[in-house]
Amino acid sequence: MIPPVELLDFLRKENKFIVATHMSPDGDGLGSAIALSTALRKIGKEAILLCRDSVPQQCKFLPGQEGFITLEQFTVQGSRFADFRNLILVDCNDLDRISTEESQISNLKFQTSAVIDHHESEKPFGDIRWIAPEAAATGLMVFYIIKELGVEITEDIAINLYAAISVDTGNFRYENTTHEVFSVAAELKKAGAKTHAIYRELFESWSEGRFKLFINVLNTLERKDGVAIVRVTKKMFEETATSPDDTEHFVDFPRIMKDVKVSILFREIEDDYYKLSLRSKDDINVASTAEAFGGGGHKNAAGCRIRADFETAKREVLKAFRKVLPA
Ligand code: 5GP
Ligand code: MN
Repeated sequence: MIPPVELLDFLRKENKFIVATHMSPDGDGLGSAIALSTALRKIGKEAILLCRDSVPQQCKFLPGQEGFITLEQFTVQGSRFADFRNLILVDCNDLDRISTEESQISNLKFQTSAVIDHHESEKPFGDIRWIAPEAAATGLMVFYIIKELGVEITEDIAINLYAAISVDTGNFRYENTTHEVFSVAAELKKAGAKTHAIYRELFESWSEGRFKLFINVLNTLERKDGVAIVRVTKKMFEETATSPDDTEHFVDFPRIMKDVKVSILFREIEDDYYKLSLRSKDDINVASTAEAFGGGGHKNAAGCRIRADFETAKREVLKAFRKVLPA
């Protein structure tokens, strides 16, 4: 995988960067952004890390995560960042993934924008764009950028990139786990990534509340043909003292069943407003279904939001899948 010359020139030429990743951030967005900003600093640049939301608990072990500022902090401290005019979006390709609030986005003042992403759903944003849907993770793309910049893969960079790749390959289980993924992971391990410790932090660090939430969510299971649906409500979060971050990976579980082709998690954001996480097997493309509802993602992992009551939202989504699923 070779980063475009235009992107490398931009990184070499400019001096002050805002490196931003998507709202409700995950290990790939966060790890990629931290690794990139660390490398930029090593070649004498200034870089600030930006995300609408704070870093979720399971990513707090990433070295450098404490450097993230939220969009709210960025807005309040605006004058401090007045001369940061180069925006880099990492693990997303449009401003609507940074925040759904137009008023928050309008505070982001930039002259030049670059996009480093691997999502299949593309929007035409960005002066300089590197979008590689064939890349298992944005972390993989950032690995090649760092190599091209001639920066050494330090232990801290290795941890961030390994975590990024681990999250987006389901810890090296999904079909995006190519031999290239394994060879980059091997290099990151050699550079100091403690792979078992990273696995523990990412996948085995649930609180008891989160486990109880998981039990509640599993109990909502509904099946319709090849589609499995589970649901999490605001009330469940209250009862278990948990938050939306705690639902990461829940949607992967219904897919364990042999005849389930599509798994969907409905998360209640507010009354009659749901965030959907979609997962599929093999050639069933959930990114295109998510796009039909204004979202997007990858072939086998995508998301969108729907404003409707649960029964209506469910009916609409099942209708969309009836067209896609083999009878
Ligand atoms: P998750 O279900 O874990 O939130 O997201 C699965 C994948 O779909 C991730 O790669 C995520 O970036 C993408 N995704 C989730 N929600 C949206 C959305 O509303 N719009 C777009 N374009 N992508 C999304
Ligand atoms: Mn990603």
